[in-house]
Amino acid sequence: MQIVCKNSDFLYLLVMKLFRLTFCSMALLTSVLATEKIKVVATFLPIYAHTQSIAGHLADVHCLVGAGTDPHDFQFKPSDMKKLSEAEVIVMNGVGIEMWLDKPLEKFRSMNKTVINASEGLSLLENTEIIELSSAHEGHHHNEGDHCDQHGEGKNPHTWLDPVNASLQVKNILNGLIKADPKNKNGYEKNASLYLAELEKLHQEFKSEVEVLKNKNLITFHDAFLYLAHRYQFKYIGCVEDVPEKKPSPKVLKEIIDLIKNHQVKTVFVEEGYSQRSLHSISRDSGAKIATLDTIEVGKPEANAYLNRMRNNIQALKSAWQ
Ligand SMILES: [Zn+2]
Repeated sequence: MQIVCKNSDFLYLLVMKLFRLTFCSMALLTSVLATEKIKVVATFLPIYAHTQSIAGHLADVHCLVGAGTDPHDFQFKPSDMKKLSEAEVIVMNGVGIEMWLDKPLEKFRSMNKTVINASEGLSLLENTEIIELSSAHEGHHHNEGDHCDQHGEGKNPHTWLDPVNASLQVKNILNGLIKADPKNKNGYEKNASLYLAELEKLHQEFKSEVEVLKNKNLITFHDAFLYLAHRYQFKYIGCVEDVPEKKPSPKVLKEIIDLIKNHQVKTVFVEEGYSQRSLHSISRDSGAKIATLDTIEVGKPEANAYLNRMRNNIQALKSAWQ
């Protein structure tokens, strides 16, 4: 009798335990469903940094272009289409830099998903506002999808490299995220206002530390800094617009050196990856220093990447022009 009683006690406890367990897992499931995050794909680094800063912990943000790849050279693969089809939102810079996205986007849109073009409503600048060296492209065959062919003419796509544009992009991204995920409206707005305050600070730093400098003569090896030059009154003397890994011909080298001498340019800005030997001879024959200016097109996707790397650009410009 004693044993039976014990058994029934045991059964009662077991039932209660099972009930509690079921109740707990149901409660857990309900809370998971309530906090399920939307999946967002941002195309490349600056767009990722803006989107991640707005999203915080409220959405899962993935950067499509990997850490070591340039968005100009990105090859869209079937595995990338899979990433897109799993996402609810895609955020892009637009203005033609993501040419590889044109076809996949048709499919993405037909799936009734949200596409945010961060550059919507921005005033775009023409590439013709940069003087290109006449012989820089000689003997250089352009493949389809080549950088120069992509935006040799027409609007320059590097809109993000001006902090004021970046703020407008953040507002576009914020509106798109709210539309796609209205339950987190307040959270997105709070994160965005903190990030926008940082971007405003960055803009003021460019004004007080760079815009005030004299003789802001800019020669770069990539046509990326048109918007930055326009915002803070740089004189964009020339863009060599060569392929970074390619060694320039002697004729191009001479043209670069003449340009530097004629405009008394003290520093020439390059991207990483340019032929070190060519840089050495440019520096030796023109007397100009070589420094790096960051396009923020390549690198590890991090929320603070844009702010940090734009501040590095302030330092690079200051030490060149001060
Ligand atoms: Zn570029």
